[in-house]
Amino acid sequence: MAQSVAPIRGINDILPDETRAWQWLEQAVREVLQAQGYGEIRLPLMERTELFARSIGEVTDIVEKEMYTFLDRNGDSLSLRPEATASCVRAGITHGLFHNQQQRLWYSGPMFRYERPQKGRYRQFHQMGAEAFGFAGPDIDAELILVCARIWRRLGLDDLRLELNSLGTVESRQFYRSLLVEYFRDHEADLDEDSQRRLAQNPMRILDSKNPHMQALIGAAPAITDHLDAESSDHFAQLRETLDEVGEGYLINPRLVRGLDYYSRTVFEWVTDRLGAQGAVCSGGRYDGLVEQLGGRATPAIGWAMGVERLVELLRGDKLVPEAPAPHVYLVPLGERAARRTPALAEALRNDAPSLRLELHCGGGGMRARMKKADRSGAAFAMIVGDDELTSETAVLKPLREDREQQSVPFAQLVAFLKQACTDLD
Ligand code: ATP
Ligand code: MG
Repeated sequence: MAQSVAPIRGINDILPDETRAWQWLEQAVREVLQAQGYGEIRLPLMERTELFARSIGEVTDIVEKEMYTFLDRNGDSLSLRPEATASCVRAGITHGLFHNQQQRLWYSGPMFRYERPQKGRYRQFHQMGAEAFGFAGPDIDAELILVCARIWRRLGLDDLRLELNSLGTVESRQFYRSLLVEYFRDHEADLDEDSQRRLAQNPMRILDSKNPHMQALIGAAPAITDHLDAESSDHFAQLRETLDEVGEGYLINPRLVRGLDYYSRTVFEWVTDRLGAQGAVCSGGRYDGLVEQLGGRATPAIGWAMGVERLVELLRGDKLVPEAPAPHVYLVPLGERAARRTPALAEALRNDAPSLRLELHCGGGGMRARMKKADRSGAAFAMIVGDDELTSETAVLKPLREDREQQSVPFAQLVAFLKQACTDLD
């Protein structure tokens, strides 16, 4: 026997047993977003490395150590996308979507980061995200947050916590940054290696450290919300007012800085306590400077991304995903002549009743084995067609879920019979 090929660590197959939950989640996100005017954008899985370096930031975990970067055959440096906001901005600039326009967009798909694989953290993982371009005011911030809350409600996820912060503008951050540097300089001996390096290059990133030994020090650092510029402060107040008005609860977390460089003003995270350290299920924020930074015309923008694996984990754990609907009919041919005729019968029934869920028995086996498969399929009826039935153009319909007599139904009346018997068949 040939040797099998091992899968790549942290890169998962998603099996039929699990995809039901994925589809359930994807459908909810898609429908809720589309009902509010968001259009889908499909983006490439790879981009020039430069795009991510210039947007996410050189001194970030993602760009420093997590990207799958390679030279293609021309010698161009390409990277698998670690996230999709940069690609979305790039695509908008490429196609002129931002000139005097407002855009509400959503996307879905795999992202790639070379992280240490563990539960809730993979090397290929999936995000669904929404981005809005051309809206400067806090109304869209509220909309994007509230649309998440609507999605959670629709899915039955009722214990996600909204954490909120404002990072001010790039200019107003300069002063806060100097306060932070001063504070951490005074405690330099307590900084871990990563944080010492960040102190010189990107001190705010220290607040994002996941190192438990750093948390007390981080907790006592100056809070950015005490040092916002007047406009950002106003923007933040208006956002909170809208959330209060709607009755959406939140927690202000002044240490929430997010792991990417491009954010300004509003940042937020939806968090659960049920997934251990991998508790963030959706993260986002405003990035008013990014379009211009990537060569487009200045365009205010804001967006979020959900971690699909983490949400699926919650949905499955809570049994919030309805079972896939069972077939209405499992069609069992008996004998060779019937086996040759049943595909045409199945097709005719499917044509006449497009919402009919009919599974056709394939691959032989004895009567007992066939009936066992019919039962296992979960179908409401086994539809048995043998030589006699072919001659009389009838099928035997045997109820599998109720203790009722089987009955013979003429081919011409099968659809009518099934529509009467199965309430979800129209
Ligand atoms: P974390 O703090 O957990 O590392 P992050 O800040 O790096 O998350 P973002 O870049 O904001 O995450 O991505 C948005 C969402 O995508 C996260 O909230 C999380 O749910 C999910 N996510 C991020 N990285 C991974 C990963 N390696 N595996 C699975 N899901 C992930
Ligand atoms: Mg991360």
